[in-house]
Amino acid sequence: MKNYLPKQYKKDNTFIIKHNYLSDQFRDFNIILKKFRKIIKNNDFTLGEEVDIFENNIKKLLNQKYVVAVGSGTDALMLSLKCLGVKEGDEVITTPYTFYATIGAIVTIGAKPIFVDIDDDYNIDPEKIEEKITKKTKAILPVHWSGRVCEMNQILKISKKYKIPIVEDSCHGILAKYNKKFAGSFGDFGCFSLHPLKNLNVWGDGGFVVIKKKKHFEQMMLLRNHGLVGRNKNLIFGYNSRLDTLQACVANHLLKKIKFLTKMRIKNALKFDNGLKKFKNIILKKREYNLNEVFHLYEFRLKNSKLRNNLIKHLKNNKIDAKIHYPVPMHLQPASKIYKYKNGDFPKAEQIANTTISLPVHEFVKDKDINYILKKIKSFFNEG
Ligand SMILES: *Cc1c(COP(=O)(O)O)cnc(C)c1O
Repeated sequence: MKNYLPKQYKKDNTFIIKHNYLSDQFRDFNIILKKFRKIIKNNDFTLGEEVDIFENNIKKLLNQKYVVAVGSGTDALMLSLKCLGVKEGDEVITTPYTFYATIGAIVTIGAKPIFVDIDDDYNIDPEKIEEKITKKTKAILPVHWSGRVCEMNQILKISKKYKIPIVEDSCHGILAKYNKKFAGSFGDFGCFSLHPLKNLNVWGDGGFVVIKKKKHFEQMMLLRNHGLVGRNKNLIFGYNSRLDTLQACVANHLLKKIKFLTKMRIKNALKFDNGLKKFKNIILKKREYNLNEVFHLYEFRLKNSKLRNNLIKHLKNNKIDAKIHYPVPMHLQPASKIYKYKNGDFPKAEQIANTTISLPVHEFVKDKDINYILKKIKSFFNEG
């Protein structure tokens, strides 16, 4: 088995409009390296000062009381479920239309993912949650896909009625809002990733959790650092999942720009919306007045999968990095074989996986790039 990433990065460079924009984002990396020197001099590598600063920055940014920085978005999810006492044999309700890590976090602690189909917004369909609740349901785990918050009012109602806590997968959703409230601030836990491809990112892996209750906060502080109190007391058995001081330093640097780069994503997405709405074969997401999406991805759908696949080919031939996030939903992945799901079990997730396409929407996509992409989409429909 080989690591596919180096090949992937080389291929990315053949596009003129790319999903990957990190070398531009960190063009001013010398400022960060200067801070690194200080950290190295001080031997401040784990749970250092920059980690405290980062946690405080996030508290301020999202107006939250408790924030704990951890090793990754996956760990944020896994440790949140741990804090809730989710264990072997329990069930967690979630969506089949997500990144692998959402489900991996549930499965690695021994729980079973119970899928609920999505709606046209690519998010879990709240109407279909209640029928999946059993005595074993220990958490509801909605994913705010592409930075569009799920229908939280309905999900919160269900959570209250059955007394089942919510863990939000907000890995796509930093600064996204629903009814003026931030993604990650609805449930007991809001989980975020700092992976290089997320809106707020670092030079490797990282994540953090926004937490409602003090007792959960205290539990999370223990779990991320071996269950240690001070140096000599092991209160509970825990994990090693700390945000590196060096990565916290990178995150703190980028945090200064997060509002700007979110604004640019929104601006670009609206420009795409405007340019694409005239194509009769294209289905755009319905934009809702109470949702402030942050467009981790800019996605739309085609009338059928053949059209979608041909459009992607056409765009790639024109050096535009069109992608699919993702072509196979979780219930049909080889890893899910043990659950014996089959084609047709979650029709909306399958339909969207077969017809969706994502375009680069980050802050380095310029107006002229968007116009170029729109022109190429126009030529595709004229030709085909
Ligand atoms: C990226 C991502 C994760 C996992 O985050 P890592 O930091 O890569 O572990 C989880 N859920 C979703 C929806 C993601 O996009």
